[in-house]
Amino acid sequence: MKAEIIAVGTELLLGQIANTNAQIISRALQEIGIDVYFHTCVGDNRERLLDVLEAGFKRSDIIILTGGLGPTKDDLTKETVASYLKLPLQLDEHSLNQIKSYFAKRGRPYTENNYKQALVPEGALAIENKKGTAPGILLNKDGKTIIMLPGPPREMEPMLKDVVIPYLSKMCNSTIFSRVMKFYGIGESALEEKLEDLISKQTNPTIAPLAKRGEVTIRLTAKAENRMAAEKIIKPVEEEITKRVGNFLYGFDDDTVEEMVARLLAKLNKTIAVAESCTGGLMAHKLTNIPGISKFFERGIVSYSNNSKEVLLKVKHDTIKKFGAVSEETAKEMAEGIRISAGTDIGVSITGIAGPDGGTPLKPVGLVYIGYSDSNKCCVEKHIFSGGRTDIKEQSVNSAFHLVRKMLQSMGD
Ligand code: ATP
Ligand code: MG
Repeated sequence: MKAEIIAVGTELLLGQIANTNAQIISRALQEIGIDVYFHTCVGDNRERLLDVLEAGFKRSDIIILTGGLGPTKDDLTKETVASYLKLPLQLDEHSLNQIKSYFAKRGRPYTENNYKQALVPEGALAIENKKGTAPGILLNKDGKTIIMLPGPPREMEPMLKDVVIPYLSKMCNSTIFSRVMKFYGIGESALEEKLEDLISKQTNPTIAPLAKRGEVTIRLTAKAENRMAAEKIIKPVEEEITKRVGNFLYGFDDDTVEEMVARLLAKLNKTIAVAESCTGGLMAHKLTNIPGISKFFERGIVSYSNNSKEVLLKVKHDTIKKFGAVSEETAKEMAEGIRISAGTDIGVSITGIAGPDGGTPLKPVGLVYIGYSDSNKCCVEKHIFSGGRTDIKEQSVNSAFHLVRKMLQSMGD
């Protein structure tokens, strides 16, 4: 099955909004094994939309359109598709009632131009819009499936997930099963190089690497008649990948590194405290997102100023003076300081330059030291991250969690 996505909206072409709908829809189709061959973006213009539809009908089995289903004059997707397919528009009573009650509930007046939204091409199925007014539309004609979804993502996404994807996966009569392998400490290209032969001959399962903030994930996706069969196809490939790069593998599917750390803390019955400078409490924030962490997370201190590092963490004045606040020595004393003052098993520190200013040739923006301390060991990792301020903060915290994970794993071995 070949699919394509047509996003309708002049504001997309003007660069006022990004075509995130195409990304979300593509990802959802990929997960059920439908190949997406084209993304097209077209303005609110009947002639050009007709051209795009013409091309789409020649080359795809499934055409998904988003945008232009609203009540205003420039919303012309449905009318154009209906006229292209030579189908009259008919009133869908259920949709009209939905629209009327949507307005009534909000105490807003129902206006006649909303009536237009309840019209669907003859023979089409209206997809209920739980978050707005314009229903989605699903229709089959001449062996093709045409789906129209509203532009606003919060309206589009539930329809996609609840109706469109179940419908299409049933139509394709196959199950798709994915397994995500998560790696840290190896770059995307190094990983791909080690798996080159597997990737180049991939068909089923497909092997899709994706790099994000210092981590690389590999999604293995198998298509088969049922889930068990799909898992069976994935297993030997997963094993082969583990054999080659298993020492960088840290988790699967929805695992996050902070949850892995929390699980390890619980398993080993260890407590942790963190002292953060440039990350401003982001590590503590992520820890406190995990239910039940209070048994293991004692405190987080944001020691942003030099003075606070000295007063709260007992970093020596001379250390900061001699080596600077962003240095291996300061990170080490911060990690030890927080561990001792909090009375925990583990202390972690982060100090760095998140930018955009404040960098020097010797200490560039993105330079971050992460300290770790327990009763047996103290170490510091040096990183130079790239990206904007928030990227650097995210990467710092992510790396700090990975450092703790590695340390805890080695304790557990
Ligand atoms: P409405 O009833 O709100 O008019 P609509 O189906 O007519 O919905 P559009 O008018 O084309 O949709 O777009 C409405 C809004 O939806 C846009 O301003 C934009 O915020 C969002 N939107 C539209 N298309 C996309 C897209 N492809 N990706 C992400 N957001 C989009
Ligand atoms: Mg609109």
